[in-house]
Amino acid sequence: MEGYVPGEQPKRRDIVKLNTNENPYPPSPAVGRALAEFDYSTLRRYPDPMASSLRARVAEINGCAVENVFVGNGSDEVLALATRAFVEDGGAVGCFDPTYSLYPVLSEIRNVVCRRAPLNDDFTWRTPPKDFAADLFFLTNPNAPTSIAYPKDDIAAFCASFAGVVLIDEAYADFAEDNCMDLATAAGNRNVIVSRTLSKSFSLAGIRTGYCVGPADLIDAMYKVKDSYNLDGVTQAVALAALNDLGWMRSNAAKIKATRARVAAELQSRGWTMPVSSTNFLFARPPDGNARRVFDALRDKGIFVRYFASTPEFIRITIGTDAEMDRLLAEI
Ligand code: PMP
Repeated sequence: MEGYVPGEQPKRRDIVKLNTNENPYPPSPAVGRALAEFDYSTLRRYPDPMASSLRARVAEINGCAVENVFVGNGSDEVLALATRAFVEDGGAVGCFDPTYSLYPVLSEIRNVVCRRAPLNDDFTWRTPPKDFAADLFFLTNPNAPTSIAYPKDDIAAFCASFAGVVLIDEAYADFAEDNCMDLATAAGNRNVIVSRTLSKSFSLAGIRTGYCVGPADLIDAMYKVKDSYNLDGVTQAVALAALNDLGWMRSNAAKIKATRARVAAELQSRGWTMPVSSTNFLFARPPDGNARRVFDALRDKGIFVRYFASTPEFIRITIGTDAEMDRLLAEI
């Protein structure tokens, strides 16, 4: 098989790194305090296997019971465990095309097919055909790499009609105007799970924490198939500190959204086109559609963005600081 290829993590420090949708601002100072005050002598023991304090805080934030929350080693672990817990041997995973390129890889690891439901040509929502069958559907909202948020009514209708589990991957929801968490917490929900990550809006890609919220029986199934100690003790303390300071995250998200609007307008004034972004990145098409050339030229100048051969006319640009974006615009 071919494994997942993550965006490049350069060794050089002078690179303007706009290629993996990290947050350009540091995490909450409360995270620094949690690290400084962490009692290292506790590391001789295994960590809490259920990450109970963290799980309780996630439940509190999202207005659900602890039984409705799973916390994982990055949301990538949540996605991987979903393929382990909800997909039968000989079954199938479903997702849109294009979307997060990890899903087909997870399907291959699980040795099941990954069925792709087409979006419209402009990457907007198109309901999967009636006979579209899968045990598990990864629905990324807002979608990556397209940055587009789908209409919530369409998502809700799809979830209601779908026989399998729908995992709504909301890695970028804190940069959007709306989200689908209430579909996961609704009374009577049988098949909707919403996942989130601390890697983007909380500026914590380095500690690997993600979570999901859904029906207790599905969450219970995920706990059965995880590593016993999937979240180390340092991570549990740091993630809890970050989740106790939502204000910090929200103010960074607001700054990123303001920069996003400015950069989008500037690129558009130069003939670039792009969907309206509900994420911390832009999916942008240069005037001549030769995205590969822009990608290579920016790389030569020390600016890393992301290029996917499957969407050859677009580059994906993570929103950095205003100074980083000014350098990008100058080089373009
Ligand atoms: N879902 C989507 C759509 C993503 O783009 C990413 C980031 N690559 C993830 C999930 C995984 O994030 P993490 O494992 O850092 O929580």
